[in-house]
Amino acid sequence: MMPVPLQPMASLSVDQLAIESNPDLFEAPSIVFFNKALATSLGISNENVNFFAAQDIPDSAKTMAQAYAGHQFGHFNPMLGDGRAHIIGDIIDANQRTYEFGFKGSGATPFSRGGDGKAALGPMLREVLISEAMHALGIATTRSVAVVKNNQVVFRDPPQPRAVLTRIASSHIRVGTFQFFAARGLHKSVEQLCEYCLARHFPNVEIEANTQHNALTLLQEVVKRQAALIAQWMSVGFIHGVMNTDNMLIGGETIDYGPCAFMEAYNPNAIYSSIDQHGRYAYINQPGVAQWNLSRFAETLLPAIHDDKDKAIILATEAVQSFSNEYDIAFREQMRTKLGIADTVTEKECDVIISKWLNLLKENELDFTRTHRLLGTAIASPNQFLESLPEQNRAGLNEWLQHWRSHVSDLVDQAALEKVNPALIPRNHLVEDALKKAWQDNDYSLFNELLESLKTPFTTPGNHQFMLAAPAGFDDKHVTYCGT
Ligand code: AMP
Ligand code: MG
Repeated sequence: MMPVPLQPMASLSVDQLAIESNPDLFEAPSIVFFNKALATSLGISNENVNFFAAQDIPDSAKTMAQAYAGHQFGHFNPMLGDGRAHIIGDIIDANQRTYEFGFKGSGATPFSRGGDGKAALGPMLREVLISEAMHALGIATTRSVAVVKNNQVVFRDPPQPRAVLTRIASSHIRVGTFQFFAARGLHKSVEQLCEYCLARHFPNVEIEANTQHNALTLLQEVVKRQAALIAQWMSVGFIHGVMNTDNMLIGGETIDYGPCAFMEAYNPNAIYSSIDQHGRYAYINQPGVAQWNLSRFAETLLPAIHDDKDKAIILATEAVQSFSNEYDIAFREQMRTKLGIADTVTEKECDVIISKWLNLLKENELDFTRTHRLLGTAIASPNQFLESLPEQNRAGLNEWLQHWRSHVSDLVDQAALEKVNPALIPRNHLVEDALKKAWQDNDYSLFNELLESLKTPFTTPGNHQFMLAAPAGFDDKHVTYCGT
C-alpha cells in the first residue's frame, strides 16, 4: 500500500535539474523516530517502515537526485548534487502547502563523488532534534518525518548503524542550483528557475512575462527572507556551521544540520564545527556570510536581470546591499521583542541598549538563552535577576538594568518576556548524551524526553536539568562534525 498521497514532482522544464536514481537496498529496517503530528498533517497515516527506508516506492513516483553546484568554504565546486539523498515528489499538507518529500542516506547517486551515499544513525537523530527544535522556536526549517535504522554498519568515526531520514522541504532549490545552471551558461534555465521559484516560494509576488522583472524580484525577495532567517538564528544563538551556497535554500528554510550548534555562553566568535578551522562560519560572521552567498546568487542572475551587464551589476548590487539594512531591522526587532523594549523607543536608543546588553553578556560570559529567559524577573525585581546569576558574572549589569527598565514597554511583564525568550534550546551536551544513548545503547528514553520538551521551548520543562548550561569545560571543547 502506498502510504503517501504523492503528486508527481512539479514539472520543471529545466534540463538536468534532477536525474533518476534508485535508492539502495536497505534490509531489515526498524523505525526509531516517527513524527506522528507532521505525518498526519501530510496525510500519512501509517508507519510503513519499508517505505521510510526508501523501499517499496510506488512505481508512479520517480526517485530523483537533484543537481547543484556550490561554494564550499569559499571554493567553487561546479558539480555537487544530492550524493546521498533521493526526492520522490511533492506532497501537500492539510494547509495546502506544498513540500518536496525525500530521503537522506538512501544510497549512492550519480552525484556521490566517491561517497558511500549512506547516513549514520547519530547524525540523522541529531537532525531530528535540531530541526524540530528550530521549528518549535518558530524558525523556518526543513522538517523530519521519520528515521529508520538497521544493523548494517557505516564506517564513520566511530562506526555506527546505518539510517535513513525522511525529510520535507518547501523545495530543495538552493543558491547552488542556480550556480549549477549559470556555470554551464544555461541562462534560459536560470530564467525558468526564477519563475518557478517565484511561483513556488513567493506566491504573493506577481510573475511577469518580463524575465528582468522576475529575476530582480526574486533576488530582492530572497534577500529579505534570508535577512529575516539569519536574524532569527542570531536571536536564539544558533550557529549553522556550514553556510555553503549549496546549503542556502531559495525558499528561506534552514537546511543541513551537520556541524550546527546552539551557543551557550555568549561569545560572538563561537565556532563549533570541527572543519571550520578559520572561523568562516562563526556566530558573528553569519550575516556577512549570508550576504556573501547572496552575492554569488546575484551573479547567477546577471544575464537575466539586464542585457547590459553594467546595468545588471548596478541593479543586483543594490539588491544585495539592501541585505545589511534588512538584517539590521530584523535583528533589532528580534532583540527589541526579547528585551521588551517599547515601540516608542527610537531605533538608535534601542541599538544602544541592545549592544550594551550583548557586550555585558560577553564580558560576563553569561549563558545566552538562560540569561534572556531570566531577564523577565528583572521587570519586577532587578535584584532577583542579579541574584540568579553567579556573583562573579554580574559586572555592570545593575547600571544597564536601570537604564533598560526605563525603556521597557508598559505592556510587558515577566510572562510576556517568557513567551519570546525560550527556556529550552537543544544544548550540545544534552544532544550528545541523548544521541550516544540512542545509537550506542539502543536506549531512546533521553532522546524522546528531550525531543518532547523541545516541542514547547517557551514552557519551563519538567526536567530542569534541560535548562542548565553544559558542565564546566564541556562547551569549550565541544565540536560538531559534518553530517556524515
Ligand atoms: P553537506 O555538507 O551535507 O551539505 O554535503 C555536501 C555534499 O556532499 C553534498 O553534495 C552531499 O550530497 C555530499 N555528501 C555528503 N555525505 C555524503 C556521503 N556519505 N555519500 C555521498 N555524498 C555525500
Ligand atoms: Mg548540504
